[in-house]
This record gives sequence, C-alpha cells and structure tokens, in this order.
Amino acid sequence: MTSHPISRNGNSAAASKQPCLRVIPLGGLHEIGKNTCVFEYGDDIMLVDAGLAFPSDGMHGVNVVMPDTSYLRENQKRIRGMIVTHGHEDHIGGIAHHLKNFNIPVIHGPRLALAMLTGKMEEAGVMDRTILQTVAPRDVVKVGQHFSVEFIRNTHSMADSFSLAITTPVGTVIFTGDFKFDHTPVDGETFDMARLAHYGEQGVLCLFSDSTNAEVPGFCPPERSVFPCLDRHIAQAEGRVIITTFASSIHRVSMILELALKNGRKVGLLGRSMLNVIAKARELGYMRAPDDLFVPIKQIRDLPDRETLLLMTGSQGEPLAALSRISRGEHPQVQVKSTDTIIFSASPIPGNTISVVNTIDRLMMLGAKVIYGKGEGIHVSGHGFQEDQKLMLALTKPKFFVPVHGEHRMLVAHAKTGHSMGVPVENTLIIDNGDVVELTADSIRKGEPVKAGIELLDASRNGIVDARVLKERQQLAEDGVITLLAVISTDGVMAAPPRVNLRGVVTAADPRKMSLWAEREITWVLENRWQQLSRNSGGKAPDVDWMGVQREIEVGLQRRLRRELQVEPLIICLVQPAPGGTPAYKGRADAEPDSRPAPRGRRDGNRDRDRDRDRAERAPQPRRELAAVGAAAPVAPAAVAAAPAAPEEPEMPANRTRRRRSTAAS
Ligand SMILES: [Zn+2]
Ligand SMILES: [Zn+2]
Repeated sequence: MTSHPISRNGNSAAASKQPCLRVIPLGGLHEIGKNTCVFEYGDDIMLVDAGLAFPSDGMHGVNVVMPDTSYLRENQKRIRGMIVTHGHEDHIGGIAHHLKNFNIPVIHGPRLALAMLTGKMEEAGVMDRTILQTVAPRDVVKVGQHFSVEFIRNTHSMADSFSLAITTPVGTVIFTGDFKFDHTPVDGETFDMARLAHYGEQGVLCLFSDSTNAEVPGFCPPERSVFPCLDRHIAQAEGRVIITTFASSIHRVSMILELALKNGRKVGLLGRSMLNVIAKARELGYMRAPDDLFVPIKQIRDLPDRETLLLMTGSQGEPLAALSRISRGEHPQVQVKSTDTIIFSASPIPGNTISVVNTIDRLMMLGAKVIYGKGEGIHVSGHGFQEDQKLMLALTKPKFFVPVHGEHRMLVAHAKTGHSMGVPVENTLIIDNGDVVELTADSIRKGEPVKAGIELLDASRNGIVDARVLKERQQLAEDGVITLLAVISTDGVMAAPPRVNLRGVVTAADPRKMSLWAEREITWVLENRWQQLSRNSGGKAPDVDWMGVQREIEVGLQRRLRRELQVEPLIICLVQPAPGGTPAYKGRADAEPDSRPAPRGRRDGNRDRDRDRDRAERAPQPRRELAAVGAAAPVAPAAVAAAPAAPEEPEMPANRTRRRRSTAAS
C-alpha cells in the first residue's frame, strides 16, 4: 500500500503530523525550585519530579509556592505515572499536595526519596492515593505504552540520586536531574558514567541538563573537600560547636556526625526536619553513626561545652527554624554563649541572603564566634560547574540540548557551554515554565505553551493564596488600609458625613482632607453614576447595585490618593443604605476650597476639575439635580445616628483603636 503514489503522499502528510514527544516543564525554569516536568507522547503522560519553592519577600503569609497544575488536572486521565530523581524538596515537596488534586497511579523513585515522601504523604493523609515503587541503580521501569526509564546513579548533595535515560518512540532523552561529578563521594556511590557513555554511543536525541552553576567556571570541588576545614574549626573550638546545614544534605550531615565522633563530642539535634531526615537516613543505612553519639537536647546541657556539638536547621535564616530562634533569644532550651563557635555549612539560596546575614549579625552580637561564607571551605555546592556540565555534554553527545533547573541567565550560560561543545545554536532551546518542547527524531521546536504559573499555599498547606489575596496583602504591608463608611439613601443622597479610618497609612495630609476627598468621591459617584447603578423597578424602592457603588467610590478614592499623595493603600468602602426620602447631609465639598489658602486651593480645584472632566467622559449622563437636593437638605437623619456627628474630626492615627472598637460595637 505504501508503494501507491497517492498513499505515499498521504503517508508523508501523516508523517508530518506524527505524534511527537512533548516535554513541558511546569516549574524549575527561570527560578531555582518547584521542579516539575511533564513528558507526553500519544495518550501517555509521565511526570518527572514535583517540587515546591519557598516564597519570596513580598509573599506575605505564604509558606509554600507550588506550580500551577491546571494542565495536569485537565489531563489527569492520561497520567500513567511519575519518576522521582532524588529527595530534595524542590523535587518531591509538591507530590503530597498534588495527590489531593489529581491521580498519579504509580511513583518510581530512589529508596531514600520515597522514604522521605512517605512521611509527607502520611502527614497529608494521601497514602492510599498512589503506589510507591523503589528502584535500584540501572533499573528500567516502563511507564504507559511509550516510556521506559533507566535510573543511572549520579552524584549530588543528596544521597541516592539519579539521572534518567528516557527511551521514547522518537529517541532517547537524557534527563540529568541535579548532579555534579564527584569522584570520591562520601557514601562511595560513584557516578555511573559508563551508562551515560553507553547512551551517548547509541545516540542521544536530547539532553535536559542541570544549569544551577552554569555561570561558575571550573569543576565543582568534591563534597569530601569540606571535611578538613570543618575538622579544623571543630577541633579549635573552645566551647560548644553549633552547626547548621540543610537537613537533606545527607553527605554533609554524615561528615559532621563523623567529625563529632572524631573530636569526642556528643551530638544534640534541633529542628523537626533535621530529626526526621537523620532518623530516616540512619534507618535505611544511608548514614552510619552509633546510637550513643546522640544525646537528647535537654540532657546535653549537663555535658561540658567542649564535649558537645549541636546540629540544627536554620541555615537559610528561616524565621521559625532552630538557629533563627536561638539568635533571637527565643529558644526554650538553647541560649547563645560567648564561647560558642557557630558554623554555617551552607550558602544562602538566592532570596534568603538578607535573612541569613541578619541571623549571623544577631548571633555575633550575642558574642558567639560565627564562621560563614565562601572563603572558609565549609560548604561546596551539590551542582556541577561549567566543566562538570561539559563532561555531561561530552559523555552524552546529544543532538538537541535544553538547559533546565536554573534562572534565565544560568540557562543562557549553559546554552553557551553547549555551543562551545559543538551543539549547534539551532539545536538548543531556552524555555520557560509552560513552554512545550516538541521533539521528533530529527527536529526540535517550541509548541503552543500550556498554562503555567504559581499556586501559593498558606501555613495549613490547604488554603490557596490567590493573586488577588496576595496583592491585597502587599498593599496592606506597603501602604496600609483605609476604611470608608458612607451612608447613602436608596434615592441616591449622601445622608451623613463619610467616616474614614486609617490603618498603617503614612501620610502628611490633613486628616480632614482625607474625609473631604472621600466626600467628593461619594458626591461624584452619586451625581454621575447613580443612574447606571440604580434601577427603578416600578416598586417604591429602586433596585440599587450597592456593590457597584462601593466599587466606584473605592476606585475613585484610590485614584485620587495615588495622584495626590503617591500612596496606594487598600481601600475598603462600606455603604450603609438609608431609606428613600432621607434628608441629605450637606457636604463640605463646596465650602472647603474657600477655607483653604488660595494657591493650594486653586491647584486642588484644577485637579478635581481635570479628574471630573475625564470621569465625565466615561459617564455621559450626570444628574445635577441630586447635587441641588444635597445642598438644600441640612439635617442628618436619625437612621444614621451611629455615624459620627462631627465630620471635622475624622479618625486620627492616635485614637484609631478606641474609635474602631466603638464602630464595631455599634
Ligand atoms: Zn537536589
Ligand atoms: Zn534541585
């Protein structure tokens, strides 16, 4: 049949529409964190890792950042399984959360990573939602009809870590996971470079490689290189040694325990993750330390200082971690002594630098000797430098190359390294979260992107902090909040002076002016927008869109404050409806310009006119008669007696609390 010319044409047309391999990162690009990657062929979806990220400074009240997984929720019927490369939070931290939202039939991963995942899944109550399958080096697992994945042992700051060779109908993809080439790893498990070379010889279609240190020249020093430096500091310490590092840096923690033993110090552990990870790693044999090396923190105080070493969380200045609390003098069991030597055996993740240096400052001010920073040789990265990345390219000899796991400049630097190794520019793609890499046996291109973004979880890890909530929190934190109570009758009359409250708003403006502005906004809305916002349904009382009225007043006042004071506080307007026929309160908006100094008044007047003019363009049907009604009716109604009688005394910051309570009570 294929020999028939028409069929052949048909086939070639079909060939161009042949399913391709689609690789879609939903997180991990243009950032360090929340690595989540989707592999798709035909009807099969396979996930590789699902991590979390930590919030940046402006994300008030957010504990965890997750990728937007709308795409996976929409396509969950096609998800055949997940592959986990290693147990770092930026690779497994999202899984328990995702299992609440969509189905992942099976998860294949290293023993240590899955042991750590089990703890998270138990906590989240999702143990029954999937099957966990542990793998050993060189195991091959099949996922769906189209994927088979070989686990290739690699070296990284985390024990039991893997690179992946993913065989698909269009060719083999090498997905490095996090790696560096460490030829003398702490646990003796060397990088299985022979397997990488094997695939390189067979032909690798595409390499997806870790870009974290793409800007750093040279080879990454081996993890073992920190051993003598740590040893020297511990041996020289006069009093207690306090060390902080990532709990998940299994190799580092192993060395610290080894050094404690060597230097005759007992170890006290602080921090939940430190206790959990060490317990798991020891139980599974990834860490060897005698039981009697550890002493409960309450009893360690009875030992001489020269015989103790405290190992704790807080290397990133996390506010609730053990070392941060100690630095603030808030820890119930441990207080800093001037004889303490405190070692930061980690470098700050970008974004945490300020919290880390603040913690160091506080510890120094308490008199401790603090050892930190690059020059001390007490920390090395778990991610390869440029020469490691070149070695990866040399071994795998990929046709196409996609740098991943890194911020944009790291991806660009890594792509350049690829070019220097002979990967043609047109065979390299720099992608973003949500981009779709479409691969055939001889082509690579970007397809239509899918929805990608972030989901922010609060402390409960259940509540989602959406973009609107986050913006409101940022506004509150930066410019405070103004509440405005307006009393408006159902026939569109301002029936009492507006009541304005300021919280956290820094302004030099006269508080009277604030309520005057509020009055003007209300008057403007009543004069120009009332017709659109109220509908006379034929009954006695018109149908008023009170939410719309509130919104109009909020927007107007917001705009005025931005222009007049260059602040953007959150504005909350509450409208208290009064019955139709309620007499109008006579606003001060008309009288005020006379009472102000002439130049200022003129300027404000001009601004108001400008604003009114451009607003009038939007609202072509002003109701001037309402202003006349307002001006003619001087008495405040009984219905709004709760509102303050004296508009001349708007809320001052000093007596805010008292006044607010009385409002709440009324
Ligand atoms: Zn990692
Ligand atoms: Zn990572």
